[in-house]
Amino acid sequence: MTARSKAIASIANHRVASTEEYLEFAGADIYGAYMFHEDAQRQFLAKPIFEKLRRTIDGHEPFDPAIVDAVAHGVKEWALSHGATHFTHWFVPMTGSTAEKHDSFLSPVGEGRTIAEFSGQNLVQGEPDASSFPSGGIRATFEARGYTAWDVTSPIFLQFEPNGVTLTIPTAYVSFTGEALDHKIPLLRSQAALGKQAMRVLRWFGNTNAKRVFTNIGPEQEYFLVDRRLAEQRPDLVLTGRTLFGAPSPKGQELEDQYFGPIRERVLAFMMDLDRDLWRLGIPARTRHNEVAPGQFEMAPVFEPTSVGSDHNMIVMSTMRRLASQHGLMFLIHEKPFAGINGSGKHNNWSMATDAGENLLDPGNDPEANAQFLAFLLAVIRGVNEHADLIRASIADAGNDHRLGANEAPPAIVSIFLGSQLEDVIAQLERGPAAASKKGGQVELGVTSLPVLSKDATDRNRTSPFAFTGNKFEFRAVGSSAPIYWPQTVLNTAVADSLATLADDLEALAPGDFDGLTRLLSGIAKSNKQVLFEGNNYSEEWHAEAAKRGLPNHRTTVDALPALASDKAKAVFSRHGVLSERELASRVDINWERYVKVAAIEARCALDIARTMILPAAVRYLGELAAASLSRGAAAVAERVATLTDGLVDAIDALELAHHTAHATKSVQAEARAIVDSVIPAQDALRAVADELETVVADELWPLPKYRELLFQY
Ligand code: ADP
Ligand code: MG
Repeated sequence: MTARSKAIASIANHRVASTEEYLEFAGADIYGAYMFHEDAQRQFLAKPIFEKLRRTIDGHEPFDPAIVDAVAHGVKEWALSHGATHFTHWFVPMTGSTAEKHDSFLSPVGEGRTIAEFSGQNLVQGEPDASSFPSGGIRATFEARGYTAWDVTSPIFLQFEPNGVTLTIPTAYVSFTGEALDHKIPLLRSQAALGKQAMRVLRWFGNTNAKRVFTNIGPEQEYFLVDRRLAEQRPDLVLTGRTLFGAPSPKGQELEDQYFGPIRERVLAFMMDLDRDLWRLGIPARTRHNEVAPGQFEMAPVFEPTSVGSDHNMIVMSTMRRLASQHGLMFLIHEKPFAGINGSGKHNNWSMATDAGENLLDPGNDPEANAQFLAFLLAVIRGVNEHADLIRASIADAGNDHRLGANEAPPAIVSIFLGSQLEDVIAQLERGPAAASKKGGQVELGVTSLPVLSKDATDRNRTSPFAFTGNKFEFRAVGSSAPIYWPQTVLNTAVADSLATLADDLEALAPGDFDGLTRLLSGIAKSNKQVLFEGNNYSEEWHAEAAKRGLPNHRTTVDALPALASDKAKAVFSRHGVLSERELASRVDINWERYVKVAAIEARCALDIARTMILPAAVRYLGELAAASLSRGAAAVAERVATLTDGLVDAIDALELAHHTAHATKSVQAEARAIVDSVIPAQDALRAVADELETVVADELWPLPKYRELLFQY
């Protein structure tokens, strides 16, 4: 019996066990149990301290250092009451994963005795010796100092493991010199920038009650689950998160029977545990379903303020990984784990809102609200159009390269879908105030000439990278594994920039000059309409059309990243205080480095599997066929296998050479270019021969679990 067939036999006997007494742990009872939420704060903090902290959390006043010791005391008491023994500052360095270093509360007092201690200093600041995190040149190893600082806006939580509890404090990570070393700080800065410019626009519209504007995020998370017993026999899945080899399964997704289909018992058991764990952490998991590809699923939470929602998405991914393993499953978050079937994305639903609860992307009910809505809508359109190259670069990495531009995911061309009604409104506007006001009963703003909007559900376009869906935009091109901080930072900055120009222009108009406003908006519509596209983004015609319109089409990471080094990029990030030139440069360096490292790991892994697993299988089969050469048919197969085996050996040599040649180039950019031009094609060629061999070599000799097994047997 081969390892593959043993795994399959044990999957057949797998029984789903219940992990929790679900009636006892009902959703409403456990929600937020592991989170230092408002009620826990009220319970564990003295009233004046509680009230001050809330004002800071709600963004109304800066953090008051005078209360830190009192807050720390309350946090500690709360954590101890749940059995915590350790605390950690949790942050998101530029590795793209989260980081944490645990310290116990233990503080010895005299011989053989200890007390639990947690000071205000412990709460607000940490100093991980973090010389091993990438800094893109900001911080050399000899000046390794980096600080973590409590992010008051993101809830403190507890990590429960079977053997203990850790108090976890979300933090931002800065260098000694105050430069951002993480993904969080730029996101917070971009929020502030967008908020500031949006407030100027709101004030022009006469809004005096809003104190603050921020963005909301609802990230729909796609992922795959496969059986661990099979997946662990694939070094490519273990090391790279995707299959580097694998012939298509005879049945794929063509019957369309997976999407929204009944959820298998085993997967549903995982999802139940997932939802409960997320609810305990105060993460509002809401929707779960089967996705398009076999073995593919989705979870969507209710939207939250972007910095909290971004932290929560990191926790969602790590919780999925942990629980999948407990259920004997392997969690695949890669953008393209399997060739030939759909990959995974993260659809980031994004909107702007005021602290008074007004969604600025919600078309209003009256003419004045409509005018304001259109102003914000056009500001987004201009921001996305002018900074399409940066937005494209913000989602560029080796994994997402497999998705963007393939015929299933949004293309690498950034365009906006509005839906026919809004598209029509923008077209009217573009023709100018006079044309707009002609449109019969539709248009009525008295002094102004802006059309009235109805709140019909907008139509959908699943092919658009950036689609308006009624009262929010859905940024659909983000990769499934990506931390969403960076794409959201870039989007916020692009929109802040556009809002800043709009605010400048509005402030030059008299308040209430709606004709002036219409002229302004008409101008924006005219000069940015090329970014609007309602059709099928997957089609060849769109690529041709987009080229005609002059829209950037950066197909790979290597084509996309240079935009971040442009003068325009430096100017916009520094103008809004989001990233200094040095901070931006460090991020770009890290992106390049990461790209070549991921590609090199994949090339080495492919070579290893081809040489030590696939080639031996082919040779063994050749041996068996040689013994059966009396049969004419067997001789023909032997000849075919022999030819493919020679082809395999040649392809291995070619990849080896391409990999070494790329690595010998002088700069990381040159290496990345060589990877796109020669390593990836050589790896694809190797895969093509190997996959063909898979279709002829005897099944029991084949060492790698096959697509049909990974995708359908779990
Ligand atoms: P759709 O069907 O348009 O995709 P859903 O209601 O299923 O919309 O929501 C998808 C995601 O969008 C969810 O995470 C949801 O919380 C989020 N979402 C809804 N409204 C907003 C909003 N105003 N801002 C940001 N995200 C939102
Ligand atoms: Mg959606």
